[in-house]
Amino acid sequence: MSLGVDLITGAKTCSFNCIYCQLGRTANLISRPEDLRGYVRAKDVIEDLKSYLEKMDLGCVDVVTFSGNGEPTLNPELGLILIEAKRFLGRGIPFVLLTNSSMLKRNDVRRAVSKFDIVCVKLDAGDEKTFRLINRPAKDVSDLETIVDSIKKLKKELSGKLMVQSMFLSTTLGFANCRGFAFERLLERILSLDPDVIQVDTPFRPGGEEFVRHLSIKELKEIGERFYEYFPRDKVWIFGVHERGGYVRWKKGIDLGPIVIDLLRRRPCRIEDMVNVLGVGYEEISRMVRELLAKGVIERMGRGYYRIK
Ligand code: SF4
Repeated sequence: MSLGVDLITGAKTCSFNCIYCQLGRTANLISRPEDLRGYVRAKDVIEDLKSYLEKMDLGCVDVVTFSGNGEPTLNPELGLILIEAKRFLGRGIPFVLLTNSSMLKRNDVRRAVSKFDIVCVKLDAGDEKTFRLINRPAKDVSDLETIVDSIKKLKKELSGKLMVQSMFLSTTLGFANCRGFAFERLLERILSLDPDVIQVDTPFRPGGEEFVRHLSIKELKEIGERFYEYFPRDKVWIFGVHERGGYVRWKKGIDLGPIVIDLLRRRPCRIEDMVNVLGVGYEEISRMVRELLAKGVIERMGRGYYRIK
């Protein structure tokens, strides 16, 4: 299973305001780490890891994933947190970073990012217009060309693997990145990065704008076929087709309520997602969800998803 480390907590803070973001609209839209207030410090992360490892078996942690309630590379202590977390957890566990790529033009950010074992960069558009329509970047964020160039620079400096994650979608406003010119340009850009893995995703989780439409599995498979023309099949991961993740082994007598709350704080989930991520039976998760609903801690969203109230 993946152990999550949140580098951005509190109100959502990001350099993008993506139309499909499952975290909702960006409360603090900023364009550089210097503008981030009250960020998570290395010592807080180590305290959190300690408290988690009192409850779970380290042997079931396959990977440690850095993300957060926004863009993790906005945290100025990213590099230090990685060093401390690696020192604390020991060697052998891969560290993954999920990033929207907008800060990669900075040498200091790339220096920190290049120490991760896997970097998963977001790329939803291959042309400037679609980039602005889908990702709605902060005013001073660079243009798409600069972002793509900085991902290429990172690839040269990175000793680990580069993954590209693209959210394919359409909208009721008439634009989409899953067909026509926008799709072909995006495909070209991804090919130019020569990533180790491509994640073909779609915004299935609620939280985004009402005008966003996720794709069907059939449409995603068709997109996957286009990638198979250029990449081996095992390099292309398609949402809903390739399951990822694993199971947690919890220590006896642990109260899973706070862990469910923690998971829902990171992202909205369905009961089956919680069952998969936490490795706990359906009945037990359903009971916990009922209790948290009754206490008013969580609320129901559309399509069977729950989130913190
Ligand atoms: S970059 Fe990620 S966190 Fe930021 S708005 Fe987009 S999807 Fe949400």
